[in-house]
Amino acid sequence: MARLFRFLLINSLAFGGVVLLLVSAFKLAQTTGVIPNGHDWRLVLKGIMDSEVRPAGKLKVRRSIMARAVVVLDAGHGGADGGTLAGKSLEKDLNLKVVHMVAEELRRKRIRVVYTRQGDVTEGLKARADFANGFPAALFVSIHHNASTSGKPEGFETYYTHPKPSSVMTAQRKIFGVKNGGKFIDRRGELLAREIQASSCNATQAVDRGIKNAHLALTRLVSCPAVLVECGFLSNVREGARLKDNTYRGKLSGGISRGILAFLAEVDANASYGLELSMPNPVAVDEVSVLGKAVR
Ligand SMILES: [Zn+2]
Repeated sequence: MARLFRFLLINSLAFGGVVLLLVSAFKLAQTTGVIPNGHDWRLVLKGIMDSEVRPAGKLKVRRSIMARAVVVLDAGHGGADGGTLAGKSLEKDLNLKVVHMVAEELRRKRIRVVYTRQGDVTEGLKARADFANGFPAALFVSIHHNASTSGKPEGFETYYTHPKPSSVMTAQRKIFGVKNGGKFIDRRGELLAREIQASSCNATQAVDRGIKNAHLALTRLVSCPAVLVECGFLSNVREGARLKDNTYRGKLSGGISRGILAFLAEVDANASYGLELSMPNPVAVDEVSVLGKAVR
């Protein structure tokens, strides 16, 4: 009996220790930012498993570009933050609908998609940027709907930031093997914006308000090529009605996803598309050229 008791005691102590270890590892990961706080855990884990991207080492990041493109889709606002109000429609809900349609289109082309939010949850800009920066070899597209105090403005526009803070770009320099002091000019955000703007306006015949370089938090803080699209003005009666129509949304989402695919095709053809870089390390040059061939 005493032996059985001792056996049970030792085993339950060991089990308790393992549980304690797991809980503290999880807490540590949260406080160190390895795991962002306040996320829907099932979505984060699903996102990571879906993407097969482990933002761990330089080599892994390179491999992930070769394996398959990853697109981080960000539905603007959510939860307590409704965004713009248009009649009974809230911007946050329309953003999410477009995101889901774009995701569907991209998946059909075997592009991996992860989301900053999939449901109606409140998520800060910093948390969204941190999450996206867990996928340094991805593309980032934030979806919004616009509004104005006047009912007149209408049309589609796309934002990007150039240049981004050099601290933000460290991850990109690493991917391409550019050492400190090496030249690294990244115009991919602008080129991605250009592709999305052109194909979306073409698909919807919306007024083309052009691409704009602006210091928006997300396009500035996300390291990979990052854009923010404003799908149209909910404050304009005619365009607002279109933006709530599912057929129009289908055209819009098709346009956005074709823009993303057009950009990826350029990267496939030339791995340093949109980049001006100096690579003092000849090994890095080889790896990037291999990457160019492998993307296809
Ligand atoms: Zn918005």
